[in-house]
Amino acid sequence: MLTARELHKAGVEVLVIERGPLGGESSWAGGGIISPLYPWRYSRSVNRLAETSKTIYPGLAQQLQHESGVDCELISSGLLFTDLQEQPQAESWAREWSVDLQVITDAHQIHEIEPQLSTAIDSGLWLPDIMQIRNPKLVKAMKGSFEALGIKYFEHTPVQELVVEAGVIKGVKTATGTYAADKVVIASGAWSAGFIKHEKNVAVEPVKGQMIMFRGEPGLIKRMVLSSGHYIIPRKDGRVLAGSTLERTGFDKTITEDATVELRRAAVEIIPALDDMEIERQWAGLRPGTEQGIPYICSHPAIEGLYINAGHYRNGVVLGAASVRLMAEIVLGQSTSLDPAPYALDAAH
Ligand SMILES: Cc1cc2nc3c(=O)[nH]c(=O)nc-3n(C[C@H](O)[C@H](O)[C@H](O)COP(=O)(O)OP(=O)(O)OC[C@H]3O[C@@H](n4cnc5c(N)ncnc54)[C@H](O)[C@@H]3O)c2cc1C
Repeated sequence: MLTARELHKAGVEVLVIERGPLGGESSWAGGGIISPLYPWRYSRSVNRLAETSKTIYPGLAQQLQHESGVDCELISSGLLFTDLQEQPQAESWAREWSVDLQVITDAHQIHEIEPQLSTAIDSGLWLPDIMQIRNPKLVKAMKGSFEALGIKYFEHTPVQELVVEAGVIKGVKTATGTYAADKVVIASGAWSAGFIKHEKNVAVEPVKGQMIMFRGEPGLIKRMVLSSGHYIIPRKDGRVLAGSTLERTGFDKTITEDATVELRRAAVEIIPALDDMEIERQWAGLRPGTEQGIPYICSHPAIEGLYINAGHYRNGVVLGAASVRLMAEIVLGQSTSLDPAPYALDAAH
């Protein structure tokens, strides 16, 4: 959706063909943290996109609200890491990318940052500027933006195959018709690998993530907290997300009791007050998994007019805004604002 909007804004006539409802898959299901979890564990190519996106989101959220009337709830709630084991790596990452990172070794200070934090936690890394966005609102705003800007789309229309003649893209085929296009961008998340037959394929596979949501009081929990791989995301209206699982079980989105128990246990360990809150909802989404989390943002080397913007794994929201800028530059044959080499089909992902 972001790719389509970016290309439309650049003057391209765009048609989005979506198998389900617009934005109904991973982009709906995610947590919307505008940062990779443990960003220092990722390559520069991932961080470059993330840091660029962070500068785009405030303006983008405003534009989307203006176009759609929907507030995506982009808020700067900060992110508190309760683990100090990776402090040297985190500090060197923060220096490199000029991110405000504070090392907290005082129990009183850490509980001032998040008063609901478990008393068993007395130190951590505090990143006050990390933002979050509320995914269902983001996709709703995107759809509203499509309406406002006149971006055409079909929902409930699966693309069955690409139409390629003599190495040149001609369009896509669906059950209800073939749509001609001189350029096609594959941006179908976890489902992106199936479209291309090439000696080096798009190595994207689904990685299921389950999430639970508590119904809480607005303002009770203020900060996003990440502890031993589990995170808490408090929304503006008091709801609190706790995630997430990492499951390689194919294209299956079943939610499980095991995940409920595990996510609840981990969440209560971080914020004991969650123990008194009801779990309102549980869901699963399929992340477009790549081995190193480096997305494909590239043209296809063997099919003229075919492009790929997929494989953002755990970070598709935070990487998305910068990815689509790069994608549009590539599609339009412009000079690129970032080095595109790490995102090419033949690069390591
Ligand atoms: C539990 C969870 C938590 C997450 N938390 C975060 C986070 O905090 N921050 C962050 O940045 N990222 C997060 N992510 C990752 C992020 O959500 C994804 O990387 C991102 O949404 C991927 O976007 P996408 O557009 O590539 O894929 P999707 O949103 O999955 O969209 C792909 C679309 O392609 C459509 N499609 C598939 N096949 C076809 C076809 N044949 N024809 C037509 N349409 C088709 C699908 O229906 C789908 O709507 C999380 C993900 C999950 C599951």
